[in-house]
Amino acid sequence: MSSFDYDLFVIGGGSGGVRSARLAASLGKKVAIAEEYRFGGTCVIRGCVPKKLFVYASQFHEHFEDAAGYGWTVGESTFDWTKLIAAKDLEIARLEGLYRKGLDNAGAEIVESRAELVGPNSVLIRKTGKVVTAEKIVIAVGGGANPHAALPGHELCITSNEAFHLEKLPRSILIAGGGYIAVEFANIFHGLGVETTLIYRGAEILSRFDHDMRRGLHEAMEAKGIRILCHDHIQSVAKATSGGLEVETMNNGQLAVEQVMLALGRDPYTKGLGLEAAGVATNERGAIVVDAYSRTNVAGIFALGDVTDRVQLTPVAIHEAMCFIETEYRNNPTSPDHELIATAVFSQPEIGTVGMSEDEAAKRFDEIEVYRAQFRPMKATLSGRAEKMIMKLIVNAADRKVVGAHILGHDAGEMAQLLGITLKAGCTKDDFDRTMAVHPTAAEELVTMYSPSYRIKNGERI
Ligand code: NDP
Repeated sequence: MSSFDYDLFVIGGGSGGVRSARLAASLGKKVAIAEEYRFGGTCVIRGCVPKKLFVYASQFHEHFEDAAGYGWTVGESTFDWTKLIAAKDLEIARLEGLYRKGLDNAGAEIVESRAELVGPNSVLIRKTGKVVTAEKIVIAVGGGANPHAALPGHELCITSNEAFHLEKLPRSILIAGGGYIAVEFANIFHGLGVETTLIYRGAEILSRFDHDMRRGLHEAMEAKGIRILCHDHIQSVAKATSGGLEVETMNNGQLAVEQVMLALGRDPYTKGLGLEAAGVATNERGAIVVDAYSRTNVAGIFALGDVTDRVQLTPVAIHEAMCFIETEYRNNPTSPDHELIATAVFSQPEIGTVGMSEDEAAKRFDEIEVYRAQFRPMKATLSGRAEKMIMKLIVNAADRKVVGAHILGHDAGEMAQLLGITLKAGCTKDDFDRTMAVHPTAAEELVTMYSPSYRIKNGERI
């Protein structure tokens, strides 16, 4: 009989926390999971899920325009922000209910309170002041939006958190950052009719992606009417006498906008968590340091998901949780595999990607082959929309393995999921070539690019 109150205490009810609590409880372990806000975490409550609903909402404007080319006459259309928010909130509440139900059915105890470490095996439940003990503790508290506290006027800005609950849609918005969130929200706000400007400090948006995707998306966004200011950043934000905000930029002078949104990355949410009390080590970003099995430096304390700052993606946190369960409760040591993670940016057009960019592969291998197709998707023919899809396969010439696949265009995220399987399986370009095309689709280009568009040998394009 264990001398602890629980076999497992999980702090944080997001993707990683809920998965570990639910699986451990279903294996018969005595489990409690504490959450201070809402179950579901960033992804469900104020991230991936409501974001995708907003993406759908913002696309109707173009669907209505495109319909004309297909013979439809669409009557006058209007958009109601408050209706969208209410519908979104209902759906999020439904999903949160499912998360709770899953925990409940598995037999995990739900603790609606902030919880903090007070020792290696002890947790303080803030709401009741009670200290409980657990043989194992999982910290899965995620991260929070970087508030950019050094920016004068940062308190006047919003982050993605507030973007999901704005009382009204602003007439104009300036979004700072060039990553996933900045790019996705720039397209959402623009699609909903907001005059949108993106300001990014680097040479091109989405710094970690393939250059064709970055350039292609930049051009497509500008063609829609989104203003993109690269090589620039915000120096200060102040209230304007007219009621909006006055933004001082480094290179583009003063901008007057109604709202400023900061999308400058996310920080691990470790402050005040009692890590010092338990002796848990963190790095210079405040992230919990873990080994290959999500173990912290303190025996019995584990951390997974965004709080460890490994790869900030929901499926990664879930995978890390499942590996934790395999290792600790199924006697099957399993280390999370962070290689070849397929991902999508829900911009408009979307980006779907897996593996190395052309530049990364050119540095890694002596010779690579680049297969590239740029074309107008079929749907755009009758709609008359001037949009292009780009598809790229990066192949290591030495063994013909496809080491990177990148798509810009409709359904790129859906395609990236399937490409993820092929790259994970180690498919070669020859495997792609002998795969029959699905016709007529855009994806068929992936198996019909027979000759390389160019090669890169020892860093030189040939
Ligand atoms: P990202 O890391 O994607 O982007 C952060 C951006 O902010 C970068 O462009 C970065 O520039 C810039 N930046 C950082 N600090 C500063 C600064 N002090 N001044 C000016 N610019 C700065 O973070 P996001 O906030 O967009 O998203 C957070 C995480 O959430 C992502 O890492 C992603 O993993 C996840 N996410 C995933 C989504 C998906 O899967 N579709 C959707 C949304 C989020 P630089 O590039 O020069 O460093």
